[in-house]
Amino acid sequence: MVDFSEYCFLYRMLFAGYRYGIPWVSHYAARMLPDRVPVFVGEKILDQLDEQFETSQIPVKQQQIISKRIAVLQQQLPPMPFPVQIEFRDSEIANAFALPGGKIVLLDPLVELAQSDQQLDGVILHEMGHVYHRHMMTRLVESSLTAVVVASLTGDTSGVVHQMIGAGVFVMSTGLSRDMERQADQFAKQAMLKTYHTSEPMAAMFELLRQQQMQHMPDWLSSHPNFSERIESMRKP
Ligand SMILES: [Zn+2]
Repeated sequence: MVDFSEYCFLYRMLFAGYRYGIPWVSHYAARMLPDRVPVFVGEKILDQLDEQFETSQIPVKQQQIISKRIAVLQQQLPPMPFPVQIEFRDSEIANAFALPGGKIVLLDPLVELAQSDQQLDGVILHEMGHVYHRHMMTRLVESSLTAVVVASLTGDTSGVVHQMIGAGVFVMSTGLSRDMERQADQFAKQAMLKTYHTSEPMAAMFELLRQQQMQHMPDWLSSHPNFSERIESMRKP
């Protein structure tokens, strides 16, 4: 018979296993997958999202300038696990997000909201932080872990990829974890300091986004470490 204290202990162990074990396993599992998996999953998620997105209205010339600036900026950063590729789309909300496999999607209202190149780069660098840390894939593995376990037992991985694409669209709307957002902010802050010698434009961009306060809160707003905290951390020396 299990007495009450043992029961509590078991419960705590189970909870700890769930709370820390799954993210831990996902962290490593996401790094063990062959690169073609995140690339493929990212492309498929974008295909699905494209059913809602419109073609970007940002002039092609401006798109090229932004992509080129990011390519140059990237040379000063630690090597990325995937080549970063900027994708422009139109939608109603000011948002940006990183897909597994290195694609970063910028929505027109966000590009238009930025009052300077540095502010926009701050957002892109934050998304590059997610690419660098493979956050999307980690989250997807987390949410598909059961399928991954089954696949590793049966050797049939086709179901997993399918599951991840479905989960991907869901994760895009629910966001990443608080810790992941902090990590991406820190990555961006370091990169801003290195490239522009200030992270103030990021703080300014956060403020612009906060002012917007859209009904549908994008990655930037909904993703947890609250806004004032994020602004403050950008301004901290
Ligand atoms: Zn983020």
